[in-house]
Amino acid sequence: MALLGATGSIGTQTLDVVREERDRFELVAVAGGQRLAELSAIVKEFNLEAVGVVSERDRDELRALVGPGPEIVIGAEGLASLSSSADVVVNAVVGFAGLPVTLSALAAGKRLALANKESLIAAAPLVQAVRDTPGAQILPIDSEHCAIHQCLVGSVEAGHPDVAFIHLTASGGPFRGMTKEQLSHVTKDDALHHPTWLMGPKITVDSSTLMNKGLEVLEASALFGIEVERVNVVVHPQSIVHSMVEYVDGAVLAQLSMPDMRLPIAYCLGSPVRSEHAWGRLDFSKNLTLEFEAPDREAFGALDLAYDAARAGGAAPAWLSAANEVAVEAFLQGRLVWSQIVPLVAAVMDEYVEDPLATLEDLVENDATARRLAHGMVPR
Ligand code: NAD
Ligand code: MG
Repeated sequence: MALLGATGSIGTQTLDVVREERDRFELVAVAGGQRLAELSAIVKEFNLEAVGVVSERDRDELRALVGPGPEIVIGAEGLASLSSSADVVVNAVVGFAGLPVTLSALAAGKRLALANKESLIAAAPLVQAVRDTPGAQILPIDSEHCAIHQCLVGSVEAGHPDVAFIHLTASGGPFRGMTKEQLSHVTKDDALHHPTWLMGPKITVDSSTLMNKGLEVLEASALFGIEVERVNVVVHPQSIVHSMVEYVDGAVLAQLSMPDMRLPIAYCLGSPVRSEHAWGRLDFSKNLTLEFEAPDREAFGALDLAYDAARAGGAAPAWLSAANEVAVEAFLQGRLVWSQIVPLVAAVMDEYVEDPLATLEDLVENDATARRLAHGMVPR
């Protein structure tokens, strides 16, 4: 397997899975954006022959750390080339930067174990075109989508006409239950404190605005070929039910487990064979309470923005994701307050000009336009 984004939250948890099942999984290549000392330690531990970094400067720095042995590739092209020697490609890069991994892995007919939702959402029509490559397959690491994948085993017909709804569960994030007034005072520390999951900063902020769930609605629609009208969001604070599929006859199938990303990661690497190692077990002899409630769409406007982008189709989801990346980055840098994130994304979406997104060049151009508009709206 190749692990791109090896030093991040999903990356390090994937390494845990490999360490646990060394007889099943062999790592052949990794890539990372920063944290070169950690990347070097991974290269040495797994005795790797190929590693990717972002820039020439990073390459020189990493070379000094790893010595003359491993090949070091650079940038988007380098990322794409690392898929070639693997059977399974794990895309654990954050943001639009993960696009070359998604497209190259599928075009090369690999199994893509996909954590990077942004690439799939932005490039949905382009991903669809390379998904038919013989051997190509997407297994979703995102816990909700991995749950749905497991609950869809009984539904074999294209387009899933026997599925009435997909119910995507959401923890609700750290600000569940707050009013708009209360939300106007929350801080960066508050936003970075997720109640049930420990994740990278971008997705943690996305979870606090519910933009993560909005992006996941788009992700589910693209992955399973189900229109967003059949994708429903339900708040479930315990993060035990990872999502549900409701069939036309009223039967609801759910996947439950402790909230630990190493379970979906191991599932995606080894499917259809399950990991023999349990990544936590539920104890039904203790009082296990599972709650479900509707999301507050008024206070958390990101959800409706995502549904609107899905209905608009074409490049609209790419705009949404790009504008959100810029807004979240500005928030993390202290240049936006939390309550400005979603309105900024909405203001960018107001400028959206329809584009069917036929080529990669179209996508890159749309991404750049949305980013430029978003940057222009961040206070100096
Ligand atoms: P993170 O910030 O912890 O890690 C991101 C990784 O990407 C790091 O290794 C970083 O070095 C690398 N990276 C960034 N830019 C790069 C570039 N240009 N080239 C190469 N590598 C680059 O993020 P994360 O929380 O691990 O999330 C990764 C992806 O998985 C995101 O798309 C996120 O939405 C998704 N995801 C994460 C979780 C989770 O529990 N963390 C759950 C579901 C989905
Ligand atoms: Mg998720």
